[in-house]
Amino acid sequence: MSDCPLLPNHFAGRWQTATDEGTPLLDPVKGTPLVRVGRAGLDLAEGFAFARTQGGNALRAMTYRQRATLLGEIVKVLQANRDAYYEIATANCGTVTKDSAVDIDGAIFTLGFYAKQGDALGDATCLLDGARIRMAKDPVFQTQHVMSPTRGVALFINAFNFPSWGLWEKAAPALLSGVPVIVKPATATAWLTQRMVKDVVDAGILPAGALSIVCGSSAGLMDQLQPFDVVSFTGSAETAKIIRSHPAVAEKSVRCNIEADSLNSALLDPAAAEGDEAFNLLVSEVAREMTVKSGQKCTAIRRVFVPRALYAAAAKAIGAKLAKYPVGDPRNESVRMGALVSREQFNSVTAGIAQIKTEAEVLFDGSESPLVDADASVAACVAPVLLGSKQPVNARVLHEVEVFGPVATLMAYDDEAQAYDLIRRGEGSLVCSLYSADPAFTARATLALADSHGRVHAISPDVAAVQSGHGNVMPMSLHGGPGRAGGGEELGGLRALGFYHRRSAVQASVAALDILAQTATPFTL
Ligand code: NAP
Repeated sequence: MSDCPLLPNHFAGRWQTATDEGTPLLDPVKGTPLVRVGRAGLDLAEGFAFARTQGGNALRAMTYRQRATLLGEIVKVLQANRDAYYEIATANCGTVTKDSAVDIDGAIFTLGFYAKQGDALGDATCLLDGARIRMAKDPVFQTQHVMSPTRGVALFINAFNFPSWGLWEKAAPALLSGVPVIVKPATATAWLTQRMVKDVVDAGILPAGALSIVCGSSAGLMDQLQPFDVVSFTGSAETAKIIRSHPAVAEKSVRCNIEADSLNSALLDPAAAEGDEAFNLLVSEVAREMTVKSGQKCTAIRRVFVPRALYAAAAKAIGAKLAKYPVGDPRNESVRMGALVSREQFNSVTAGIAQIKTEAEVLFDGSESPLVDADASVAACVAPVLLGSKQPVNARVLHEVEVFGPVATLMAYDDEAQAYDLIRRGEGSLVCSLYSADPAFTARATLALADSHGRVHAISPDVAAVQSGHGNVMPMSLHGGPGRAGGGEELGGLRALGFYHRRSAVQASVAALDILAQTATPFTL
């Protein structure tokens, strides 16, 4: 363990190393230890108070434009250290280069997006929500809704699959809003998050207390939260339940955003034919979604709905694409799909496949090909598996179990109404994608499915070359989903700022509202 460094936490404005040995983070392909993380000995109360007061006061003293400039500076630091991030991602996340890019470059793009959006808000310190409304016959007394940055900290408890993007997609709107951030990355992949925070802190861009990191155990973090703090959780539905029922949320009304697991769908138009453009677009996207980051994306397609007559053709076409994905050590350039993040995830995905198999047939199983440069008894590598059901109406597990790996289930439907019913059995998802050449079908399906999805991604031949992809989360569009997806909302351009601001109705004289307006900018979406 001695040649395996223990990464320090940046907390209470200084670097602090755990007083115990910490937990080793492993290379998921080789099983070897890389670094250690831990937080024994940290004074949680001190760190939260430091962030809330020092970090919060300094950030709130700035305008939106000044804070947007800080985001732009963060972008430069991350760009300058990109190569190191790719090395860490390969070693600790087991991802091939193009999958690491989704996490690393996706984060940089999102920060850059918010830097621009924030600059446009100008030299204001609060936001005006809507127009003034007269409260009496005499127009001297009016109401104006204002949004002010909350005077608390933003605690992020993040999932293992996006150690980079998961931090920055949340930190960008939080810092832009003037709210200090404390991030607790998932332990398995905490190295990349820690390294990025280290680079940004060492560059001296942000005021003291604006950005803190606690690696290792989550115990006691929620206990530190006070009424004006916010917590953003990304992870499993089980842990989400613990967060939601914590007294900080249940009794102190700490604002809480949850992004949990989701059984996202792809739907092919009932009028599609084998080999037409809509069919081909669905086939390509399903294969891509199953394999990007080895299917460890909360937005990945898990359920694929095709007209009954196309079930066999779709199975064959998707299987043919998946057969072109050699799996193994991402350091070998012939490998197109790397590892899951850990052997625990390997066990969980293997168990999930077994569960799905109780209701589905195997249509394609990539495990028949050997792994490249990886020992199957050590590496957390799972080959893509396409399962299928011709009777999804009678299934339960298929609509309930999210297998967080390169796994999807193809399902046959009989008519449009049945397809919508089956999709809704996911009980609320992050995203549903539609594949059709018919704009009337697209509009109809969107109306039927929008209320149960955070995003409807509708793909037709005319947008095929420019579309952003089913699973890619873009900062200008909302990310989150109702029901079992957690009920959260992130991103969506400036909508994201709402979580970090408090809305108040100011009822006052026009004279006072005029002065207030001098330090505010309209919140236009
Ligand atoms: P997880 O086990 O729930 O862990 C998520 C985070 O919560 C980790 O940082 C974990 O720390 C922490 N944690 C664990 N127990 C906790 C507790 N009792 N109190 C407070 N924090 C606690 O989830 P995961 O296995 O890392 O993530 C996979 C899941 O995340 C998948 O189901 C996926 O669908 C979901 N996900 C959703 C989104 C989205 O945007 N909707 C994005 C990515 C992933 P440790 O790592 O130290 O245990």
